[in-house]
Amino acid sequence: MTNSNPESTDARPASNFLHDQIAGDVQNKSFGEAAVQTRFPPEPNGYLHIGHAKAIFLDFGLADEFGGKTNLRFDDTNPEKEEQEYVDSIMADVRWLGFEWDRLCYASDYFGQLYEWAVELIRAGKAYVDDLTADEIRKYRGTLTEPGQDSPYRNRSVEENLDLFQGMKRGEFADGSRVLRAKIDMGSPNLNLRDPVMYRILHATHHRTGDEWCIYPMYDYAHGQSDSIEQVTHSMCTLEFADHQPLYRWYIEQLGIFPSRQFEFDRLNLTYTMLSKRKLLQLVQEQRVSGWDDPRMPTLSGIRRRGFTPEAIRAFVAAAGVSRTNGIVDIEMLEHFQRDDLNRRAARAMAVLRPLKVVIDNYPEGQTEYVEVANNPEDPSAGTRQVPFSREIYIEQDDFRETPPPKYYRLSPGKEVRLRNAYFVTAKSVVKDAAGAVVEVHCTYDPASRGGNSPDGRKVKSTMHWVSAAHAIEAEIRLYDKLFAKPDPYDFAEGGDLFDNLNPNSLEIVADAKLEPSLASALPGDRYQFERVGYFCADPDGRPGKPVFNRTLPLKDTWAKIEKKTGA
Ligand code: ATP
Ligand code: MG
Repeated sequence: MTNSNPESTDARPASNFLHDQIAGDVQNKSFGEAAVQTRFPPEPNGYLHIGHAKAIFLDFGLADEFGGKTNLRFDDTNPEKEEQEYVDSIMADVRWLGFEWDRLCYASDYFGQLYEWAVELIRAGKAYVDDLTADEIRKYRGTLTEPGQDSPYRNRSVEENLDLFQGMKRGEFADGSRVLRAKIDMGSPNLNLRDPVMYRILHATHHRTGDEWCIYPMYDYAHGQSDSIEQVTHSMCTLEFADHQPLYRWYIEQLGIFPSRQFEFDRLNLTYTMLSKRKLLQLVQEQRVSGWDDPRMPTLSGIRRRGFTPEAIRAFVAAAGVSRTNGIVDIEMLEHFQRDDLNRRAARAMAVLRPLKVVIDNYPEGQTEYVEVANNPEDPSAGTRQVPFSREIYIEQDDFRETPPPKYYRLSPGKEVRLRNAYFVTAKSVVKDAAGAVVEVHCTYDPASRGGNSPDGRKVKSTMHWVSAAHAIEAEIRLYDKLFAKPDPYDFAEGGDLFDNLNPNSLEIVADAKLEPSLASALPGDRYQFERVGYFCADPDGRPGKPVFNRTLPLKDTWAKIEKKTGA
C-alpha cells in the first residue's frame, strides 16, 4: 500500500513511476511548451468496471496534479460491438466517480484524418494492400521463434496500392477480401511489427458515422494517431500493450506528427472478481445477472446500485497503488475502504430482517412513545430522530434462543437485555406454533431504564435492535454476496467454464423484513447502516409502501465467527 489513509476522500495518485515520469517530462520540457495532456480511452462495447476506475483515477488524477487536462475519448473502431447505450453509461460513470473531462472525443471523429495518413504512408511506400486471407496472414506472420514471410502482395506499386485502397473505401470489395498493412519488417522479433494490419473492410453500420465508412482502422493504427491529434503527452494504458509500444512509436515517427508517448501500468485484478467486459456482457446476455447494473456486478453501475461510494473507490484505487507488474488485490481491501466510508457517513436505522414478535406484558396497551436516536454516532451533525416504541415489537429471530448455547448473551428465558435506546427487558415465557417453533416471546420491561440506561448500575451483556410492530414498514431486502465462489474465478476444471465458479448463493431475498418507519421516505441510492446488520442502499425497484434495500456489505459479525467455531 502506498497510501493507507482512508481518511483522504480527496485521494490523489501517490508518488509512483508514472508520477515521476510526468514530473521529469515537465521539468525537462520533453514536450516543449505543451501542457500535460492525458486521455481516458474506453471502447464503448460494455459498461465500465472497477478496473477502469483505476485507469480513470490515473488519467485524470495525474493530469490534474500537473495542471494538465484529460479528454474522454471513445475508442470506437469496432462498429459491430459498440452502442450508444455504452457511450452514455460510460459518461455517467466517469462523472459519478467525480471526474470531468476537458474534451469529449471519438476516434471516429478522426476517420478522415486517419485515412489521409494511410494514403500518405502508401505514397511513401510504407503501406500496402494485401489480398491474403486472415488465415494466410496469420500463417505468414510466423511465431515467436520463427520469422515471418513476406506476402506475395507486399511489393505492389504505390499506384496499385492507392487504387486498391480507394476501392476498399468506396466499398468495391467484400468484407475480409483485402486489408491495408504497414510495411515494416516480417523478420522483427516483435510480432506486432510484422506488417500489422492498419485497415479492414467491414460493411457495418457505426453508431456515430452510420454507413459512411466500410473500412475501419485497427486499434494500433487508430490509438496513437488519435493521441497525437489531441496532443496527448502521456498516453497511459495497461501492461498488455507494452509489446505494442514500438508500433505506436513507428506510426508517429513515420508520419512526423505530435510525439505522444505511451506508458504502461498494471491492471487492477481483484479476488473473487472477473473484470472483462466481454465476459461481463456474457453474464448479462445469459441472464445470470439481472443486467449490467446488477448489484453483484463489478461494473461501476453495479457497485453504485449496491451502495458503494465514489469516495471509497477513489481511496481504494489510490491505496492499491500502481506498478509495472500485474498482481491481485484482495476484495476485502475494497470492502474495508467502503465500510470505513459508510461508517463515517451512512445514517443509522433499525431494521429487523427475520422478525420474531416480542410482547412486553407490563407495558401499557395502546401506548406509543418516541425515543430519541442519534442518526449517526460518528457524526453529531447528522442530528437525531424520533423512533416509536410500543408494547409489541420485533427483534431478530437470531437474537433469541430458548435454550442458549454457551457464550450466548442475547435474549433467552430469564435473561435481561437492552433494547437499543429504549428499555431493559427480561424474557419470561414463549408461545410456540404446532411445530414447536417459538413464534412469540413475552417479556417484562423496567420503566426506570428508559433510554436504555441502567437505573441502578446493573449491567446487561447485550444491546439489541428492534422495531415497533404497529409502526413497522415492510420491505424487501436483497442480501448480496460475492458473485464468484473462488478467489480466482479463472481456476476451473479442464473442459469447464468460468461460470462454473459462480456463487450459487450470491443473492438471498428476504421478502418481509420489518423496518422502522423513517425508512419509508428513503430514496433510491440512499445509504444506511442497519444497526448490527450491515450497510444497505435503497434500490430503484422499491415502490411506495414497499421499499427494496440492497445489502452493500455486512458488518463484521463476531458472533458468526464464534458460532462457526463452536458449532453453537
Ligand atoms: P476489458 O478487457 O474489460 O474490455 P479493456 O482494456 O478492453 O478492458 P477499454 O475500454 O479498452 O477496456 O479500457 C479503457 C482503459 O481502461 C484502457 O486504458 C485500459 O488499459 C484501462 N483498463 C481496462 N481494464 C483495466 C483494469 N482492470 N485495470 C486498470 N485499467 C484498466
Ligand atoms: Mg479494449
